[in-house]
Amino acid sequence: MANVGPSSSSSSSQPEVADESQDWILGAGSGWVEARTSCDHLNSLSPDLARLPNPDTPCSRCENPVENWLCLCCKEVLCSRFVNRHMLMHHQQTAHCLALSYSDLSVWCFCCEAYLDAQVILQLRPVHQAAYILKFGEAPPVPQL
Ligand SMILES: [Zn+2]
Ligand SMILES: [Zn+2]
Ligand SMILES: [Zn+2]
Repeated sequence: MANVGPSSSSSSSQPEVADESQDWILGAGSGWVEARTSCDHLNSLSPDLARLPNPDTPCSRCENPVENWLCLCCKEVLCSRFVNRHMLMHHQQTAHCLALSYSDLSVWCFCCEAYLDAQVILQLRPVHQAAYILKFGEAPPVPQL
């Protein structure tokens, strides 16, 4: 319930994520994995996260069109490990460890191997909001804590 975007305004058909092999994207299913509220790797965030690539930007390596990840260190858009694993390979090659999913706007830290709560972590809040606006065309709801 923390992960539902506005559906009335967007008429684009969202592909149903029903693949049981998506154990990596644990938050995408019905269960919600608790996200970390701290991370030691935030100093690797790109200094310029005000302008983001569009959520429909294809993977820069294989042109996979949807459900890509945005590297928050260099703003490269790369596909998930269920496509051609280019985000994972990018992490292994560059040690960039922070990525935002354009599928559900969750933030993953490869070094922590955990999701980060982008609405709690102050450094992540602006980029999460910017991505939300790009994806849904409006600002995210204020988190009710
Ligand atoms: Zn981390
Ligand atoms: Zn790719
Ligand atoms: Zn990167």
